[in-house]
This record gives sequence, C-alpha cells and structure tokens, in this order.
Amino acid sequence: MSDSITVPGTLFPLGAPDLLRPAGGPERRRRARGPRGAALDLAAIGRRFYARGWVLGTSGNFSVVAADSPLRLAISSSSVHKGRMRAEHIIEVDDHGAPIGTGRPSAEALLHVEIVLRRGARAVLHTHSVWGTILSDVHAARGGVTIEGYEMLKGLRGVTTHDHRELIPIIENDQDVPRLAGRVADALERTPDAHALLLRRHGLYTWGASLDEAERHVEILEFLFETIGRAGTFSDGRHDGTAQNP
Ligand SMILES: [Zn+2]
Repeated sequence: MSDSITVPGTLFPLGAPDLLRPAGGPERRRRARGPRGAALDLAAIGRRFYARGWVLGTSGNFSVVAADSPLRLAISSSSVHKGRMRAEHIIEVDDHGAPIGTGRPSAEALLHVEIVLRRGARAVLHTHSVWGTILSDVHAARGGVTIEGYEMLKGLRGVTTHDHRELIPIIENDQDVPRLAGRVADALERTPDAHALLLRRHGLYTWGASLDEAERHVEILEFLFETIGRAGTFSDGRHDGTAQNP
C-alpha cells in the first residue's frame, strides 16, 4: 500500500498534522512518547486554541507535570506566538516557576505551580478569549460567575447532570505575579469545587487530571462563556441571563 493512502481514523503517516489525528489518538501517543510527546501535544494545543481565537498573539500559556519529586512542569516559553507554537517552545520549570536550564518560561509559571500543588492537577491551561475577558469584568463585582442548568456542564470532571451550579471565582489582575499567585491560592482554597478561575479582564485558568481533560475543560468553559455572554445581549443588556449571582 502506498504511504499516501490513508483511511481516516486508522492510518496516519508520521508527521501528519495534529488536526488530522483521529479522536483518542493523541492520548495513546502521549503515554508512549514521554516528555517529547508532551511538548508536541502542548504545542498542538497552542495551535488549536489559536485557531479558535482563544490565545491570539503571544497570549495564553500551557503546562503539564513532567515530574513529581522534585516537582517539574513542562510549560510554554514566554512570548511565543501560539499559532506558530512548536515542541521547542516548551521548557521545564521547578516548583518556584524558575527555569531548569536555558529558556524563559511564561511570566505566569508560578500560577501553574499553585494550581498543580493545590488541586493535584496534571495539566494547566490558560486562555485569553473575548468572552472570558468580557465575563471576567461584568461579573467581577460579584466575585465570580455562576453557571447552571446547561447540558455542557457535564463535560466538567465529576459533573453528571445539567442541574449543576458551577461557581468560577474572579480574581483582580496584577502584574506582580507572586502577589497574583497568592490571590489564586486564596481563591482555590475558598472554592474547592471550582473547575476553573478567571483573572479580571485577562483570562481563564483551568486544569485537569490529564492534558486531555484540561483541554476538554477549556472547550466546555469557553462554550459556556460565549453562550451566557451572548444570552446576556438578548436580555435588555443584563448580562446575568442564566449566569446568576454567586
Ligand atoms: Zn495570561
């Protein structure tokens, strides 16, 4: 059989574009490929999220746990255009967010460390979408945005019914990252059931027990943000819609 003949879902030549991979394929490859595979997968997530408009320019950052003892995260480098992200743009940091070896990690590496330590997450993903940014501002005075009654909530880990109330805390943004990390830690302690948090006028942080789960959480939450944001535009300018006060 010629190399160029592929049957969708069964055969993919080496180096095929990530977007063409069948569902379920990347997870199998990730287990088999080790750190290099994790870097390839993070880079592919960057390109996919860029294509969705969730990490335009150099915005957003992504990490996975590379080792537990001592803790090491594989994380996206600073100032990388997410639409052109490659495995070479993934570097390693320690439990203070400091780089191991050369390279400059994302400025927000410390936030990833806080989430990993306090949630036991294996992957942390951060986006700067339009709807996440709008909602993080509109609901800031309430301290969080609550989403309930949507079928898509069942995409969040442990949620089995649309009849679920998800409170996502909103934290004031800060260029002092250690201070911001302290606020993130406080919010995680205050809302032990939350699957995510929003930084005001900045973006979403969510996480998962695997990179696949964290990616699914981004997709679910970005869908819900856009849905309640758009719904708000049909309700006399009120942006509460079904997103109710926490
Ligand atoms: Zn950011």
